[in-house]
Amino acid sequence: MKPDRRETPLALIVDDDAVNRLLACAALESSGWKVEEAENGREALEAFQRLQPDVVLLDVMMPEMDGYTACASLRKLPEGADTPVLIMTGLDDYHSITQAYDAGATDFLTKPLNGLLLIHRVRYIVRSSRIVQELRHSQASLAQARDAALEGTRLKSEFLATVSHEIRTPMNGVLGMTEWLMDTQLTPEQRDCVDTIRTSGETLLSIINNILDFSKTEAGKLQLQQTDFDARRLLEEVVALFHTRARCRGVELSCLIHPLVPTWLHGDPDRLRQILSNLLSNAVKFTEQGAIRLRADVDERQDPIDPGRSGASGPANGNAGRLVHVHFSVTDTGIGIAPEACTRIFQPFMQADGSTTKKYGGTGLGLAICQQLVDLMGGSIGVDSEPDRGSVFHVTTPLERQAE
Ligand code: ADP
Repeated sequence: MKPDRRETPLALIVDDDAVNRLLACAALESSGWKVEEAENGREALEAFQRLQPDVVLLDVMMPEMDGYTACASLRKLPEGADTPVLIMTGLDDYHSITQAYDAGATDFLTKPLNGLLLIHRVRYIVRSSRIVQELRHSQASLAQARDAALEGTRLKSEFLATVSHEIRTPMNGVLGMTEWLMDTQLTPEQRDCVDTIRTSGETLLSIINNILDFSKTEAGKLQLQQTDFDARRLLEEVVALFHTRARCRGVELSCLIHPLVPTWLHGDPDRLRQILSNLLSNAVKFTEQGAIRLRADVDERQDPIDPGRSGASGPANGNAGRLVHVHFSVTDTGIGIAPEACTRIFQPFMQADGSTTKKYGGTGLGLAICQQLVDLMGGSIGVDSEPDRGSVFHVTTPLERQAE
């Protein structure tokens, strides 16, 4: 292996002409180089492997093996890929220059040699080649560090996924027993206590479920289902989940599905339900008065409307046109989000501002999970919002019409 930093840099001069060798040798030695010599290409390759020089000066016209062939063979050696090679040639026509670079030369110098030019050219190509090597080295170290960091994150997420999965089982036991206790004879005080245990347990379970989902996706372990489902029914069911909560607050909750949205779709209904539930749950949580609306439309930017076809008319025929981009939006008239927080809230554990947790609770994982799921589905998510006026969360995702 080439020593990392030789005290005196070493040049290998390859030329069958002794006068040329002498000239080059004198120029380089005068500027502090150590020089070794070879008289032809074959000798050069042997000397290169033995000496591992810092630069090779190569004549073209030599007996046995010419400079181009020697240069190309040198490039194939394990240590030869990065060593700068300067071709010294009397031929400076287009063809010879191209041939020199094609053979892997770093640069070329025309004969008769000019000693000063030679020294500067050698210095320049050696310095550039060192910089390139250092860059390559740091690029490789960076790639290694990035891989290690990614692997670390994956392992951590895997650990989190396992732990939260393990906590879920006893938690379900606690909740089950609480339900059972509620059905027994209790004093009002005891009932109050058990009720608090139940709601706290449910909150804890939902946090654990969020952590499990988030870390599973981070660890690359979450796989989407591919199954047929009834989109209209799914949307109506999701909205129904929040009717009571909205009504209790005096907030109107509605669902609007455009007739062109196909009823029969193919994809992952559970994950779609999870995304829309998260958005509706936030809308209810952050809206004190007014209205919340879930809408589903065909995204006309991606699927221009064909007036001859009704999306809701039933299963698609054949593969052609089976993909449909559905745009879901959840609009509320709630507290809204400051412009600078609109991107942050999709990051894990991030909330719009510090007071949110105090007033509304939450972990800041819901939207991060939505973002992960939408990414997995090949869609996009975003928000338009104005403080005190409300928010519109948008999700656009490609789904398949059901096959016949
Ligand atoms: P969590 O609700 O558990 O805090 P999310 O990731 O679902 O976590 O939401 C992150 C933050 O985004 C919320 O804490 C809130 O600050 C903001 N946010 C989300 N949805 C709305 C909404 N509909 N109106 C106002 N703010 C919202």
